[in-house]
Parts: sequence; C-alpha cells; structure tokens
Amino acid sequence: MQTSFSPAQLADPHMAASEKILRTCVHCGFCTATCPTYLLLGDELDSPRGRIYLIKDMLEGGKPASPEVVKHIDRCLSCLSCMTTCPSGVHYMHLVDHARAHIEATHRRPLHDRLIRGLLARVLPHPHRFRLAMLLALLSKPLRPLLGALPRVGNRLGAMLDLAPARLPNRSPGDARGTFPAHGPRRGRVALLKGCAQSVLAPHHNEAAIRLLNRHGVEVVQANEGCCGALVHHMGREEESKRFARKAIDAWLAEADRRGLDAILITASGCGTTVKDYGFMFRDEPAYAEKAARVSALTKDIVEYALTLGLPTAPRQSDLVVAYHSACSMQHGQQIRTEPKTLLKQAGFTVKDVPEGHICCGSAGTYNILQPEIANRLRARKVAHIARVRPDVIATGNIGCITQIGKGTDIPIVHTVELVDWATGGPLPEALAKAGLSESGRPALAAAE
Ligand code: SF4
Ligand code: SF4
Repeated sequence: MQTSFSPAQLADPHMAASEKILRTCVHCGFCTATCPTYLLLGDELDSPRGRIYLIKDMLEGGKPASPEVVKHIDRCLSCLSCMTTCPSGVHYMHLVDHARAHIEATHRRPLHDRLIRGLLARVLPHPHRFRLAMLLALLSKPLRPLLGALPRVGNRLGAMLDLAPARLPNRSPGDARGTFPAHGPRRGRVALLKGCAQSVLAPHHNEAAIRLLNRHGVEVVQANEGCCGALVHHMGREEESKRFARKAIDAWLAEADRRGLDAILITASGCGTTVKDYGFMFRDEPAYAEKAARVSALTKDIVEYALTLGLPTAPRQSDLVVAYHSACSMQHGQQIRTEPKTLLKQAGFTVKDVPEGHICCGSAGTYNILQPEIANRLRARKVAHIARVRPDVIATGNIGCITQIGKGTDIPIVHTVELVDWATGGPLPEALAKAGLSESGRPALAAAE
C-alpha cells in the first residue's frame, strides 16, 4: 500500500512503525474471510482491510478520530485472526493498538461511553475493587430488567450483570505473594502471573498450575506484579497500561536477579500476548527497553512450559471427550496451536477440535461488555459449533473465553491446566464435579507416574 506521510510525521516513532505496517498491506482482502465482524456484519469497513484504510486515512491526514472511524475500530475484537490469515505479514495488532491510542488522544466520546470505559479501567485491573464490584453485581442481579432498560447504558450494564458469576470463589492461598516449593529435587524456578480479574473469578486456574509445577519439581514464585496492563491497553489507554507494565517488569526482574527465573508463566493467554509484546511497547523508552525485552523473552504460556517438563504419557485415551477451544490470543496472538492439544492428549484425554475454531467467541477483554450485541452473536455461534462435537467438557486457556462461553452452555468449561493437573494426580476440577462427572473419568496417567 502506498503511503504519503510527511518526514515530520515519520519523525514520530509510533507513526514510523505504523507506516511500515501499512506499506506491507497489498489490499488482497484474504483477511476479510476470517474476520468475525465482517462475517457477521458484511460491511467492508468492519473488515481488517477496511479498518486498515480508515486508520491510514486518519493517521496520514493527521486527523482526530471521527465518530465513523471510532465506530468501526471499536467493533474490532483485536482477535488477530486477520494476522494469521494475512500472506503479507501485516502486523495488524500494532496498527490497531496505535489507532486506539490515537482515538483516546483525539476523540471525545459521549458521556455514557466515557463513564463505562472509565469504570472498567478503574475496576477490572484491581482485584480488590473487582471483587467488590462482583459482589455488587451479584446483589444487583434482581435489578437486571430495570438496569438493562436504561437508555444508552442499559445494554452494557445488562452485559456486566449477565457476565458476573452466580457465586464468587473464596480467596485462594495461591493469591499470596510468596514461594511455592518444588516437591523433591528442584528442576526449575518460575514466576507465575497472578492476574487481576482471573485471580477473583477463577483462582483455581493458578492453583492447578502451581500444583502441577510443584509436583513436577518446579518452584513457583508469585511476585507483587499486579495487572499486566492488557485490559487497559486494549482500550487505547497507553500510559495506564505502561504504568502497569513497568511495575510488573520491575517485580519480575527483581525476582530474576535475586534468585533466578527460568520463565515467567501465564495462565491467561490474553495477558500472555501483551506481556510477550512488552519489548515492542517499550522499544523507545531507554530506561525500560532492555528490561521489557528481557521479560518478553522469559514469558511463556503455562502449556508451552508444561510441555518441556516431559510429563508422562497416558497408556490409553480416556472416554472423556474434551472440546479444545483455542482462544484467539493463544492461536492468533501467540501462535500456540498444537501444544495445548498435545498436552491434553498425552495426559490421556480424547481431544476434539471445534469447527470454525479460528473465529472468536466474542469475549475479547472488555469487548463483551462494550459491544454486547456482536459478542452475544459470536458466543451463540461458538456454543453451537462446540455442541456439534458432543464433548463432556470444554478446555481452553483464557479466563475471558471461559466466562464468555460458560454463559452460553451447560457443558462444563475448564482451563487446560486443570485437566492436566487432574490427570497427573491433582483433584477433580470443580466444574466437572458440579456437572456430575467423577474421579472414575480420570485418565490412566496418574497410575503411570
Ligand atoms: S482483529 Fe479480528 S475483528 Fe479485528 S479486523 Fe482483525 S479479524 Fe477482524
Ligand atoms: S490479507 Fe494482509 S495484505 Fe491482504 S488485505 Fe488483509 S491485511 Fe492487507
């Protein structure tokens, strides 16, 4: 794609990076075929190619974001399916991140939009505030019809209440800052991101990861890193996300320099995609560029690391059918495709792919709150595809997907690591117990250990 940025514009490193991305696009339109919003809405401006044109026009013209541009960029899920499809290697993620930051800097949103976004940005990344908000949401559930009917904000308030769990898990021992020692001789030492929303909604994900790692000789440390910044990053709040990221970088590197770290592990793939991109985020900030790149290089999804542990292989597959839902941040953001399924199969589960697995479930960070109509349509589509493989359980690697899909189906949904933990000697995942499944479904792996 030809561009005509002025030398003065290109002196801005963000603009120079976006120009480079724009020039790689050859307008072929292959990406439109795998874009969820184009699939649902059929509007070229809701396709990756259409959005790329809008972003080019906005940035090149040095214009503030128009309501039209904001509408179509807001509808983008940042699912990154277009990046997987693009034959030219267009880095859409960095381009849309720049566009979102430009929108936040140049566009004044309507009051109701600013209020909801401000609320999400001030609550979600802070576990104490988020826990309180979830308790309030539980109490407000009876008011759902009233709140949902409020003009302008009703659909988003309704979505928040719908997504709030019926019961909040207790605080977890894994929440504490500290060290979880390896059982037996130590083979490795890792930091585990505690996470923000996940630590409130599903502390059992990290509990399963800690058990699995400790049992296989890995010491786990939880530094005081806080939120990784991903949630506000996707809302275009660049400085806020960098503040979170700097704190996380400092906490992890202090731990790495003190007692050594083999890896920084993440059990929410949405966070993993952002932390692996810290090196790019801080490339122009001398005090953090090198440190951020070091953190990104150390970062791994839990399944990537678990595969290096050489866990025992089950002698036979269990009858339990697992539908593996690959989160967009896992398959498109981090290009991790086979590893989770390999791990599950090795652990003895019968694993099935979900048809149309490359299309987003509609979760996408805060998207299911900010764009509930599109998100609900994507969920219905995802749940119908999952049902076609008739699974006993759904496994995935991202809390956002678990919340989103879980609201549309009675099939139990768990984190991949919960199943691998169970198969290798951990407890039956709570979601399976609630669905009436029992220990008798455990694959034969534990006996082989
Ligand atoms: S990130 Fe997803 S929703 Fe956005 S343009 Fe790409 S494929 Fe479409
Ligand atoms: S597939 Fe890639 S090169 Fe083709 S239009 Fe989409 S972004 Fe541009």
